[in-house]
This record gives sequence, C-alpha cells and structure tokens, in this order.
Amino acid sequence: MKKRAMAAAAFIICCLAGCGKPVSVAIDGGQGADGFRTYFMYSVEINTQKGFYYPDQEGFMYFFDYDAEKDTIVCNKPNCKHQQWDENTPLEERCNAYVGLHSTGFISRDKLYIMENTYGNKGNHQIRIVESDLDRMNQREVTVFDSDSVFSFAVKENMLYAIVDQIEQIDHKDGTITSGSRKKAQLCSIDLSDGAIRVLMEKEDFSAVVTIMAVEDDRLYLDYSYFKKPFDGTNYKEASQVVEYYEYSTKTGELREVLKKFKEDQIIKASFANGYLFAKTAPTDRSMNEGEDINCGLVKIDLATEEVQELVRMTERGMLFYNYAIYQKDGEQGGFIYDFRKNKEVSAPKMNLEHFYPYCEAGEYVYGNLEDKKTREAHVGFYRLSDLMEGVVEYDTVD
Ligand SMILES: [Zn+2]
Repeated sequence: MKKRAMAAAAFIICCLAGCGKPVSVAIDGGQGADGFRTYFMYSVEINTQKGFYYPDQEGFMYFFDYDAEKDTIVCNKPNCKHQQWDENTPLEERCNAYVGLHSTGFISRDKLYIMENTYGNKGNHQIRIVESDLDRMNQREVTVFDSDSVFSFAVKENMLYAIVDQIEQIDHKDGTITSGSRKKAQLCSIDLSDGAIRVLMEKEDFSAVVTIMAVEDDRLYLDYSYFKKPFDGTNYKEASQVVEYYEYSTKTGELREVLKKFKEDQIIKASFANGYLFAKTAPTDRSMNEGEDINCGLVKIDLATEEVQELVRMTERGMLFYNYAIYQKDGEQGGFIYDFRKNKEVSAPKMNLEHFYPYCEAGEYVYGNLEDKKTREAHVGFYRLSDLMEGVVEYDTVD
C-alpha cells in the first residue's frame, strides 16, 4: 500500500488546494519549419527550445530550464523585492517578473513580448504590447490598442497576427454600461518594429469567435464560430452555432472559405504537421451540459484536396498539441499518444489521465495539472511525457 504521494521526475511548481479543475489551457502551437508559430493561451505559457515561461499562481513569471531542470523568476532588476504592482506604481519600482494572471506572450527573434491588460482614459479595456530581452530587461512599448482580450495569435519574425476581440457595450439611460451578446473579432497584423496595426478581417455576430487554428508557409487557417440567436451559456442547441473555416494568405491578402464539408463536426483544435492538418473534432450541435459524454474525433486533413481521414475516436478530454495528441478511448485502458510527425498511434496502457489535465507541450515534458486522487489538490508542473506514458507519475495517497 502506498503511504506517500509519488511523483517521479516531475517538477511541481505550485499547489492549488481544493482546485479539481484545470486553471488554464494554453496551446503553444510550436514552431514550424519556416518559423511561423501559433499560440492560443489565457496566460503567459511559452515553450522555447531551452525552456518554458509560465506564471505562478500570483502572476509572477518564471522560466523552467529544461537542461538544468530548475526554474528561476524572470526578473534581473537589482535589489528587486519581486512584489505585485499596479498602474500607480512608479515604473522603476515595478518588478519585471510580475505579469499578472491574464497577460499573454510570445517570443520572436530572441525578444520576449508580453501582452498586458490595461485601461485607457475612458476606462476602455486595452492591450499593451511590451518588448524586452528574454530576461525582461530593456523594455520597450510596441503599441497599445483597444481590445477586451487577445487569446489567439501567430508570430512570424516581426509580424504578429492577432485576433482582437471586442465585446459589444450597451449604454443604458441611467448611465450604466453592460456587455451585450454580440462580439466583434478582428484579425489584425501588428508590425512589432513600429507598432503599426492593420485590420485584415472582421467578423461581428452573437458570441463571434475567431481562432488561428494553424499556419503553413504564408497561410493562416482560421475558424470562425457564431450563434444565430443570443447565446446565454446554456441554450447551446437553440441558439444554433455556425462554424466556418477560412484560409488567409499573408502574402496576397486573399481570404477564402475552406473546409465547407465540416458541418456536422466542428474542429476544436488543429495543428499543421507533416504536410497535413491534424484536428480534434466534436459534433457541432453538441450540448455544453456538463456530464454529457461527447465523442470526439482525431482527423487528418489534406488541405489541397480537403480529403478527411479519421484516425481515432477519443473521449472529450483528449488534448491536441503541436506535435502530438494525448487521449483516452471509451472502454479502453490507459491512454494513447498520436505522434503527428511519425503519423502513428502509441498505446500507453499504464498512463492514467483520469487525474491529469495536460495544458501544453513543453520540450520533453507536458506542462499540466496532476490531481491528488484523495485530497483533490492540484499540482501544476512539468511532467515527463515518457513518465506519464509509463504511469510512473502519480499522486496516490491511498492508505
Ligand atoms: Zn522583481
């Protein structure tokens, strides 16, 4: 009988007591051969060849070095006490590592970029892009623009392609302002050298969401979803979701609808590898009610012919990363890894995904949240993929 929690070769960075659910989901799309990189994230979580940037639970950014197997706070300011700050804190007193829990970020040409949340003169929500060295020294403001959030973006050299979201604001007679159910999503290019912003595509509708799914050469693959009626978070079927896919050429500026065959199943996440688009799919008219079993697919799409090949069926919890997918199958023991580069499924009968929530690929590690089976305490950290497959990483406090 095991008396003690066991975690082999895992580097645990924080414990969130009582939190049994994932605290965030970040997909670092990784780096293609041409250096185009996609990101989907709710907080700074950046995979690099040398290590991984992540925020601790208070919003201080750390760097986990893969070779050294240790993490350090990303602040080299002399005598800094590493304290949280707000917009009233003088610049010289601000800790470089403090980015908060809602900033996002990326790396391009050996510079680190953080997209901070800030407010304009009228209380309007804005995003401020700050460029710095990799240790956050030599900071420079690239640009500030009105937006409620930027979750999905792609970077190639000095060009950032970002989905800039703005939620409809309704002015009431009594002077109050509330958020409406319509949303505007723009694909913008932002030149990181001079901050120049151009709107390349704009969509506006009920709960409009545009995501950069994948990139190849000079093409961005976008998915656009919206509802025909206002969506209140529960009336998923009645509000009737519509999903469309687009290809945008950064070279010619041409935007064209693609993958029109995808109507019954919706692409949830995708990655371009080995000349194919690998995608996790789910039924478009699924209910969002918790507890309902949703069967998902892993498909391989030839974008030239739009031929779709289903590779496997998996449970809803399956996660797709840049180079592989991790998932379980109904009625089958353990877990599975589908390696996109080798185009092959590997079975890992000992892998236990019941209590593990993978967030993103981090070198040979998976950055994720492992839950103590008994206390439900969550341990966010870096877990070696090979150890997860062997089932040697587990929290088990059963007497
Ligand atoms: Zn500091």
